[in-house]
This record gives sequence, structure tokens and C-alpha cells, in this order.
Amino acid sequence: MSAHDDPLYRAAHPAPLRQVTLYSAPLVIPVTGPVIVDGAVAVSAGRVVHVGTRRWMLGVLADEMAAGGRIDERHWDGVITPGLVNAHTHLQYTCMAEVGRGRYADFHDWERAFDVVYERLGAGDWKDSARAGARMMVEAGTTAAADIVTDPQAADALASQGMHGIAYWEVMNWRNDDWKTEGVRELVNHLGAMSRERLPSVGISPHAPYTLESTPFVDLPDIARQLDMRLHIHLAETPMEAGGDEDTLTTYSAAAWRDSHWSSYTELKRAGLRASAIQFLDQLGSLGPDVHIAHGVWANAEDRRILRQRGVGVALCPRSNRITVTGRDAPVREYLEEGNLLAVGTDSLSSSPSLDVLEDVATLYDLARGQGYAAADLTHRLIRMMTLGGAQELGMHVGAGRIGQINAGATADLAFFGVPVDVATPQGIEDTLTTLVRHGAGTNRATVIAGRLVYNDGAFEAPVDTDSTTERSTP
Ligand SMILES: [Zn+2]
Repeated sequence: MSAHDDPLYRAAHPAPLRQVTLYSAPLVIPVTGPVIVDGAVAVSAGRVVHVGTRRWMLGVLADEMAAGGRIDERHWDGVITPGLVNAHTHLQYTCMAEVGRGRYADFHDWERAFDVVYERLGAGDWKDSARAGARMMVEAGTTAAADIVTDPQAADALASQGMHGIAYWEVMNWRNDDWKTEGVRELVNHLGAMSRERLPSVGISPHAPYTLESTPFVDLPDIARQLDMRLHIHLAETPMEAGGDEDTLTTYSAAAWRDSHWSSYTELKRAGLRASAIQFLDQLGSLGPDVHIAHGVWANAEDRRILRQRGVGVALCPRSNRITVTGRDAPVREYLEEGNLLAVGTDSLSSSPSLDVLEDVATLYDLARGQGYAAADLTHRLIRMMTLGGAQELGMHVGAGRIGQINAGATADLAFFGVPVDVATPQGIEDTLTTLVRHGAGTNRATVIAGRLVYNDGAFEAPVDTDSTTERSTP
């Protein structure tokens, strides 16, 4: 093997570039580095080649281009960010917006309304609904999502748009006995079908502690981990999942766990014990750094400690929580102050007015301030949550295919927001970032996924890249 075939040699001596697309803008937010004024992102072969100031970039590229190589510059007079990551959604429910528009007395009232429409649509075409939702996300600048799939036809929603992320197969409504006889077989069938569809990334979503008994919550993490799959759970969403004031069943005082084998969380609650749903799953060994949870509304100090200790991230979905009447908002201030891993999700249109994750980011800004979070870093924290934080909760923040960040070698997923930009002073830059966080929803004008311009609402002269990923999953 000559030195030039050696991967280590090649990594340190990149081949001359034949074609580079240079996206430039007055403000670039790499997330893994400081914001860049008059910045540029060089993209080639689906990856970021460099990010830096436009002037520096032109000098570097002059040295790195092949003879006759071409640089196509596309200038955007706004903000460039990594493609956004929506850390909790159900794309197949995009056709259930009528449920999301309703008004409900409590969570069960919302559930009943959901079930009525879901039953009616039971044999419906979930594929079109799911794909339509994925397209809405792309148009809003979202390039990756944690998408929960309940019906098999909806499984290729992310793949239909070339998006990144994970399609989590949802498992719900199993008791311990029928899980062993029926549930496992059904799971194997569905995961097998998803793998034959060649979906880019598949995970498992054990629904919630009130729709599954204990055994599935022991088995599913075990199965997922053997298959190198990640897990995503609705947890601490509803009032019944709250713990008591005394943390009687924590790791430190687990007598009640040793003395009794609880067949379900519901049984434990009926026995009068006040353990939270988070504590319950923790005792079962379901939690870990390959898990992220949706909502985390009813998480007290001990619950939040457990999540940090186990490396479990939370996808906050504040607009959904209001519509489904979860009974309170998430403790955003405490999560931020204590340093939990956080991301943002829209949930589905059955519990949210839109799939634009920036709408939830704006809501989180107001919630955090309303709850007394006063630190000056709020805008920066929220920008991290909607990009790198989401990537981290999906396990996609490191490695060769990493997303949620703009740095050399990362996957070239980009969004182009049309907020007013002021880079004349440091305060002007801070104000621009705050405007993006609070009023950026609806302003995305172009989206790049893996280097392909997949959405262009007048941002650039260039046509969208047409080599179709739309049918990629159905060769
Ligand atoms: Zn959900």
C-alpha cells in the first residue's frame, strides 16, 4: 500500500477540490464555534469543507481547488444555521390537524378526541400524510427529526425528503402476558419490514408507562441495544406520572423495589406509592445515554437528577403541552440552570399548530423568562437546543456523518433564515440572534440537506437539486 492509499495520509492531505458551492451570508452560526460575521460555508460532495469568514475562505480555496475547479457562490442576505433538528414528532399524524385545533378539558379529553379521528382514519393513507409533514419540516429549515412511526406505511417519511434522523417504531398497549406471546412477534415483524425498506435509521419507541407494563420496558431497551438502535419514550408528560414530594423509591431508598415486583407503573400507583414515572423506568434499567424522552413536564428535582445521571436528554414540546392539557409547563428554568441535555420538538399536528420547531423555541424563550431564568445566554442555549442538542439526543452529534453543526467534515445540512441582520456591533449581533430565536419561525427561505439544495423559496438563482431522493426508499 502506498502512502496515498492510507486513510490517515488522505485525511491529512485532502485531494484538490473540483467543485465547491460557497454559501455566504452576513452572519453564520456554526454552533460548534463562534458566530461568524461576513461568513461563508464551503460545501462539496455533501460535506462542509470549511466554515469561516468569506475573505479567509477565498484565500484557502484558491490553494485547495483543482486546476479548472469551479466555485459557485450563493449569497444569502440573512443568517445561515445548521439545519434544525426536531427532536419529537409523529409525521404520520400530519393529516390530524383537526385534533390539534380543538380545545380540551384535560389530557384524557384530548386522547379521546385523538382516538376518534385515528379510528376513523385507521385504513387511511398514512404514507401521504407522513411525507407531507416531512416536506413541511424541510420548508421550515428542519433537516433531521425524531419521528415516531405507529403505522408501517408512514415509516419512510424522513427518507422521502432525504432527511436525517431516526424513524422510531412505536410499541404500545401491551400487558406483560400478551407482550411475551404476541408483542415480541409483532415487533420483530415490523422492524424486519422497516429494515427491508432500507430506511436510513430505525429506532424503537416504547410509548409510555401508562400504555405498557413492566416487561416490555425491560425487553425493548435490551432488544434495541442489541440491534444498535436508539430509544425514544413519552415520559413525564401527564399528571399521573408525577412523583410525590418525598422521593421514597429513589436509588437511595429502594426497599419498596426489593420487596415487590411491580407488574406496571399503574399497579405501583394504585398501591399508593408515589414514585414518578421517571423513577419507575430508571429502576427497570430502561434509561441510558441511548434514550431521549419527549416532554419531561412532570419532572421534579430528583427526576431531573436521574435524567442527568443516566445521560437522558429531554425533547421539550411546549406548544403541544398546552393543547393536550398536560397540566403544567415543563420546568424550563430548572432544566437550564441544572444543565440537563435539552432539545426541542413540535410533536405532531394532532397536538400542535405547526411543524416549525422555531415556534416552540420562541415559546420556550418566553417560558424560561417567565419562570425567572435571567441569564444572558438564553438565546445561545436555545440555538444549541434546536441544532446540536437535537443531534445529541439522536446520537448524531459526533462521527463522520454528524449533524446539528457547521464545521469541516460535518454533513452539509443548512438553513437560511430571512431575519434582519445587524452585525455592526456586538449588541447588534446579540439582537440578531434573539430575533432569530423569537421571530425566526416562517422565515426560512432555503434548505440544504447533505449538500443538496432541496428547498429554495427565492433565496438563490439556482434551481433545487433534482436528482430525486423522493423515491430513494422504493428502488
Ligand atoms: Zn408525541
